[in-house]
Amino acid sequence: MKLSEVVKKISDRLPVELVADQDNVGLILGDYDDECGKMVVAYELNAGVIDEAVKSGSNLIVTYHTPLFRAVKSFTTSSSRPDILVQAARRLLNVYAVHTALDVVQDGINFDLASRLGLKNTKYLSPLPDTLRKIVVFVPQDHLDKVRSAMSRGGAGIIGNYSECAFASEGEGSFLPGGGSAPYIGTPGKRERASESRLEMVVEKSHAGRVVRAMLEAHPYEEVAYDVYPLLNTSANYGFGAIGELEEKMVGGRFFGMVKKVLGQTLLKASHVVETEVRRVAVCAGSGVSFYGDAVRERADIFITGDVKHHDFRESMLLPTVLVDATHRGTERFAAGILHRIMNEIFKDRVVVNLSKYEYDSAVIV
Ligand SMILES: [Zn+2]
Repeated sequence: MKLSEVVKKISDRLPVELVADQDNVGLILGDYDDECGKMVVAYELNAGVIDEAVKSGSNLIVTYHTPLFRAVKSFTTSSSRPDILVQAARRLLNVYAVHTALDVVQDGINFDLASRLGLKNTKYLSPLPDTLRKIVVFVPQDHLDKVRSAMSRGGAGIIGNYSECAFASEGEGSFLPGGGSAPYIGTPGKRERASESRLEMVVEKSHAGRVVRAMLEAHPYEEVAYDVYPLLNTSANYGFGAIGELEEKMVGGRFFGMVKKVLGQTLLKASHVVETEVRRVAVCAGSGVSFYGDAVRERADIFITGDVKHHDFRESMLLPTVLVDATHRGTERFAAGILHRIMNEIFKDRVVVNLSKYEYDSAVIV
């Protein structure tokens, strides 16, 4: 499969454009014309993963963390300061990073973490704003079903657990076909009236282009009248963090024991002791302390994330939600496994997907 097609399939499933403004995700290094038959999935790019890819005959590495977070003006390498992307480029490898595109989907890193901690009724801690669009199109009534079905197949009309949601109202369209036109109804130069339906469907903005193309293909008119509106509703489909409830209340000690076991940690840091039993728990894998305010607003008893600084702990001491640092890596320890599952689901037998054995840990206990 061409790398351009691989990239399209990954970004269709893990919506890069929803997170691209605040992150650097997508194809970081590569040649879109390369043929790709095998990939390695890894937590992040390192020399071990590069060797592993080359030895296994893979020319694509898909990572969770992006190897290129900030804008750079040059790529140089030396023995004292090796640049990992230069090393990958020398070995003719392509590198794709998903990072927060894996954080914001429901079967991504945060809902997985919530489920491993036994949380139920899980929802996003901070739903993404500005992800929804409304597509309105005027369709002759004999083509209403065809256009509605095509838009549904493209991904329009999903609201929570409901799919193919649409509304159609009947009305009269009027138009004057110009010279050189080939109208589906009427003749050039003669004013025409037609029974039409105003069909409206909601769509995630990441699928809007695909739905418009499907709609135009199914529509019989030479010139189709349609509108795409931005919506102020927040999406139920994408967001940061997760919040849910334990099936039964737990005392702090027992709860933290369970968290350590799940996350493979020997110690956790917390802003203050838990005075009540734990029921409502929020999580955000990685560096998620900026979502602490959402956890407080959502009345979480505990908020678990990584990379918490001294002053973050101090500021949260007087608030009811206990801020817990379970380390950046601890909260992301399942990232590569989740990515491996999603890549296998996307590519099935078309691209071989191997999970890397190399898991760099940014800190070790000494
Ligand atoms: Zn991270």
